Amino acid sequence: MTREVAVLGTASQVPTRHRNHNGYLLRFDDEVILFDPGEGTQRQMLMAGLAVSPITRICITHFHGDHSLGLPGILQRISLDKVPHPVAVHYPAQGQEFYDRLRHATSYWDNADIVPAPVAGATFAAETSAGRLTALPLWHSLPTYGYRLTEPDGRRMVPALLAEHHIDGPAVGELQRAGRLGDVTLDQVSVIRPGQSFAFVMDTGLCDNVYALAEGVDLLVIESTFLNEDKSMAEMVGHLTAAQAAAVARESGVRKLVLSHFSQRYQDASRFLDEARPEFAGEIVLAEDLMRVPFPARTSSE
Ligand SMILES: [Zn+2]
Ligand SMILES: [Zn+2]
Repeated sequence: MTREVAVLGTASQVPTRHRNHNGYLLRFDDEVILFDPGEGTQRQMLMAGLAVSPITRICITHFHGDHSLGLPGILQRISLDKVPHPVAVHYPAQGQEFYDRLRHATSYWDNADIVPAPVAGATFAAETSAGRLTALPLWHSLPTYGYRLTEPDGRRMVPALLAEHHIDGPAVGELQRAGRLGDVTLDQVSVIRPGQSFAFVMDTGLCDNVYALAEGVDLLVIESTFLNEDKSMAEMVGHLTAAQAAAVARESGVRKLVLSHFSQRYQDASRFLDEARPEFAGEIVLAEDLMRVPFPARTSSE
């Protein structure tokens, strides 16, 4: 089972020679979620060796072009490739007119099962095969939502404890299904395996919901548009600096941090890392197009 994010694009506002508009494909076992398909996402998926057919849902944070101009191409490709399963699309309900235009941007043979499921308020939740998908409003120049996927806790059987109670073979499955076997209960022979979690935070100034989305996640993909020298402008237009994004990761107990959505005004991307590093001691990934970022390994107690 694969758990990773394939980075398809990392540029804010305009693409550059080395950075496409945004696009991130999360693989969480059988749940495959495409986040913020910017212009060119269809071709970036080709370059990354990824097909549209496994996509189970699409999440759009907001209707700026760098996060959504690739939606028409992806939807038409899903139709062309005869993807047999329904594909849910989540987006801010206030942007319905933009969704409607992108959904029917040009003429094509539309035979895919695309299920619009807009997000409104702060109570959105969808049950997926990987766990609960939630969304919270962020602070930007138009309605914007961040997303979070939370896998429920499971249980891991402990062979030594099973042996102690002389349980083996088909009896193990029986115990797992029924919760007990004779006098032996499930919690006597297993430990809790905490679920993994993922958050996606794009285009926002600092606000409480940034922290709420990031709280304790294994993997956080977050915008890091500006450097410290442009901090006041970042605050004015609803964006984060690399240092702010890294401080969020520290304060929220994030395990692995992925910085992306870089402004093209800076020539040297390593400066984002220089400014993020003092704020966050964990693993930091500066996103590059076509990079695969695996979830961090489960901790040994899991
Ligand atoms: Zn953007
Ligand atoms: Zn934006």
